[in-house]
Amino acid sequence: MSFYENLVIETQETYTRYHQVYAAGGTPYELSTRPALPQDEQISRLVQEIRAADCVLVGGASGLSAAGGGDFYYEDNASFRRYFGKFAEKYHLKGAFDGTTRHWDDRREFWGYLATFLHTTLTAPVRPPYLDLDALLAGKDFFVLTTNQDTQFIKLYPEDKVAEIQGDHRFFQCSVCCTDDTWDAVRPVENMITAMGEGTSVPEKLIPRCPHCGREAFPWVRGYGNFLTGTKYEAEYEKVSRWLLAHKDKKILFLELGVGRLTPMFIQEPFWYLTLNLPRASYIAVNNRYNFLPKALEDRGMAIVGDLARVLADARRLFEDSSQAPRAA
Ligand SMILES: [Zn+2]
Repeated sequence: MSFYENLVIETQETYTRYHQVYAAGGTPYELSTRPALPQDEQISRLVQEIRAADCVLVGGASGLSAAGGGDFYYEDNASFRRYFGKFAEKYHLKGAFDGTTRHWDDRREFWGYLATFLHTTLTAPVRPPYLDLDALLAGKDFFVLTTNQDTQFIKLYPEDKVAEIQGDHRFFQCSVCCTDDTWDAVRPVENMITAMGEGTSVPEKLIPRCPHCGREAFPWVRGYGNFLTGTKYEAEYEKVSRWLLAHKDKKILFLELGVGRLTPMFIQEPFWYLTLNLPRASYIAVNNRYNFLPKALEDRGMAIVGDLARVLADARRLFEDSSQAPRAA
């Protein structure tokens, strides 16, 4: 098992042991009580720390996509209506995930819905917070670890710079995991969308099936199916583990973006552990709700509580303005 996956499993044990604390939105770790700097000073420090770092490990989570307009997963809001309107009206869904977990009598309708979901993310442009982050990382040695399945990072970076440990909408797996194979979902999704047209169901013959057992396929994602944690999954963890082991003695910045309270074990707590244990590491989190900085990290870290899209846009502006400023003679 790779180094980072091992860390996640250890963190998962903490989560299980203290699940009531987490369920209440808390953390069992003692947090810093130091008052936060004013936000403009925090943003200035964010820019300085990125500049000063030899390398950056970005941890991109749901808040990052939500900040960029991918906020249709958990609620029936304007963007959900925009992409899923016909299903919202017919089935009264409360966000995109609601449709993936409820019972569908008609599999052709279910796949009409699922194809719409996958098509929405696969065809979405790279959203502004990702572009702002990309500008901040210009010229930097960095790697991206993400729990997002929406392929935003992969639209920006080559596969070897991104580890997608919760899956990726571009791939199908067998719904009962009869095989370790994953395969392309992009073309089948396009075909389903074309065949569906203005309707809400796909033809029976287009329902994606496992080439080995003939049962239905399923997106290769954790969260609402039977996530295949086979070769492909291990390879994602190996990428981030390799990068970390090659960079562990450098001045490394752990940059956590938009981690919610449901899954602290994938990015947040491993980042805390690594910052504490690597000699030259520092940690910055940006989060729209939670001011979670462990007391043990208060001299080596910072939590910025604010709108992620705005923080990254402001940081980019400051970064680019200060990059262009003429140097004193
Ligand atoms: Zn199968």
